[in-house]
Amino acid sequence: MRQQLLIADQVLPGPASDRIHDGAVLFQDGIILAVGPRAAVEGIASPTAERQAFPGGTILPGLINCHVHLVFDAGPDPVQAAADTTQIEMAARAERLLRSGVTTIRDLGDRDGLAIQFRDQHVLGPRVVASGPPITVPDGHCWFLGGAADGETELRARVRHNAELGADVIKVMASGGQITPNSPSMWDSQFTERELAVIVDEAAKAGLPVAAHAHGSDAIAAAAEAGVATIEHCTWLRAGGGGYDLRDDVAEKIAERGIFACVAWPSDWRGFMSRFGAARADLITARFEWMANHGIRMIPGTDAGATNSSFDDYAGALQLYEHLGFDRGHVIEMATTTSAEALGLGGTTGQLTPGLSADLLVTRGDPLSRLANLGQLQLVLFRGRPTTALAK
Ligand SMILES: [Zn+2]
Repeated sequence: MRQQLLIADQVLPGPASDRIHDGAVLFQDGIILAVGPRAAVEGIASPTAERQAFPGGTILPGLINCHVHLVFDAGPDPVQAAADTTQIEMAARAERLLRSGVTTIRDLGDRDGLAIQFRDQHVLGPRVVASGPPITVPDGHCWFLGGAADGETELRARVRHNAELGADVIKVMASGGQITPNSPSMWDSQFTERELAVIVDEAAKAGLPVAAHAHGSDAIAAAAEAGVATIEHCTWLRAGGGGYDLRDDVAEKIAERGIFACVAWPSDWRGFMSRFGAARADLITARFEWMANHGIRMIPGTDAGATNSSFDDYAGALQLYEHLGFDRGHVIEMATTTSAEALGLGGTTGQLTPGLSADLLVTRGDPLSRLANLGQLQLVLFRGRPTTALAK
């Protein structure tokens, strides 16, 4: 294939400190060859390179959504959705993610390895990191996805089973959740620290990291102690319900061990927050700040597919962090470079740098002056190939 040269008013390679005015990106066969000031990149491009210019635009890495569920439909009945879903529906959901600028997703819970199969059959993007069925307790959170296990022997067998299905990551429901009738409460732990450690140990034997769903502070503490790679939701609910239990020692451990937190709020986080009321919304905001102040690295995700969490408007989801006072460059870094590192993809994607996949976006305007510009997409490339028509 011919070399491709993209030129724009600015290039944001990923890390918050990097910004190239009047920049260019050169790639060929899906791999980035050069990134830098336009004149320098033009100087090394082949004379036959295909050239596209985007005046007023910004080139940046494709975004990463670290928490989605392709088997769910964002509707009121996830149990039924997971039972009925087809690969065609999953492809349509993945395409909606792609059209919102997401070129890599981590699917944290399917039925029978459907998202793993999707990953292997679907080459048009987005790139999929998939867990297969989440490990849970009998009748526990999301048991209907088929990942229930009881006791150490069964837990080890369940991890091996998911590894054999082709999982990239092992997902465990360390606490209860919201969507499963007659299952443990969100603040209840489903596993002991010892059981979580068994899961981490068995996953490590298969070379896999563990992502732990944990709303309760007890489950968060146990997951951190067990050495998981990421903590999903990380809600810090007090045992027995009734408010938050922010534990400094646990937060310090999470930061120290390099465990990432993926809070996974939907694109419509404003609606989500307004349902809590102003007082509680303030507490939630304070919780984010508290985690950031402890040095916990956060990665964005939306739980897309869960009830009321759509597959569209990832830019909207990222604006939550802008609202919380995060620097815009930092938000972009979180959704690209940091997420790639957290997912073990730092050598593949998440930055515009030679040798990595040409997963990139061109936005209208400057997302550093207005983060919503991330939703104004002129081009989305996955492995150097354009995706289907972008929504106006
Ligand atoms: Zn989820």
